[in-house]
Amino acid sequence: MIELTDIEKRFGDNLVLKGVNLRIPEGSVTALIGPSGGGKSTLLRCINLLEIPTSGKIRVGEETLEFHPGMKLGWRDIRRLRSQTGMVFQNFQLFPHRTAIENVMEGLVAVLKWPKAKARERGLELLEKVGLAHKADAWPATLSGGQQQRVAIARALALSPRVLLCDEPTSALDPELAGEVVEVLTQLAREGTTMVIATHDLRLASRIAQQAAFLDAGSIVEIGSAQHIFSNPERERTKRFVATLL
Ligand code: ADP
Ligand code: MG
Repeated sequence: MIELTDIEKRFGDNLVLKGVNLRIPEGSVTALIGPSGGGKSTLLRCINLLEIPTSGKIRVGEETLEFHPGMKLGWRDIRRLRSQTGMVFQNFQLFPHRTAIENVMEGLVAVLKWPKAKARERGLELLEKVGLAHKADAWPATLSGGQQQRVAIARALALSPRVLLCDEPTSALDPELAGEVVEVLTQLAREGTTMVIATHDLRLASRIAQQAAFLDAGSIVEIGSAQHIFSNPERERTKRFVATLL
């Protein structure tokens, strides 16, 4: 279970997250929808501590961190929480000078200090899971966008995170390549992977999410079952936004 309590994030004078409360039940998928600039990426980055919240509380499993304005967070705390999460970015962000398998092994070798042979074996299992074991020694630049994103998903899963955070995982891909990423995410959802997915792809969201949250201007305007939010939202603002995704 992941729990965000009163998360605020400020960039200078700009209050980008205005007290977000969110519970993510274990083994479920939460879709985060909302207009550009609403704070979806910032929220995911706060869960992962790529951004440090200005205030609020994050609990991931047994780990809890409370934030206060101006606080200095130790690396140990950051690493402790970050190791519980895996992140998938819109633009894949693979290490270009590493092969597919080296990208997947990176965390196992650098963070967990696994011997290379063991890390490679685990890396191959993960590439197998995303259907890319045969591309283990390929360079990212030689892979399609969909393949690169599948490698990025395998990499994000390497440290067995409690939650997989996906920031618009299909928006940089044309429909066919997006489809293969959707397949992989659907399979992970079936296996009970806890995920939070920021997306404009209603097809992806309605296929795999149980919960959906509509984030607008830094606040969660409406949250509920995905079916409810996508087909019959209560708030006028949510209705209007969902209509733009259809
Ligand atoms: P979304 O992912 O929903 O499009 P973002 O989280 O990217 O929204 O952005 C929310 C707001 O935060 C925007 O106004 C954006 O300009 C601002 N923002 C995001 N990251 C930074 C940053 N590193 N520094 C300053 N402002 C930022
Ligand atoms: Mg974003």
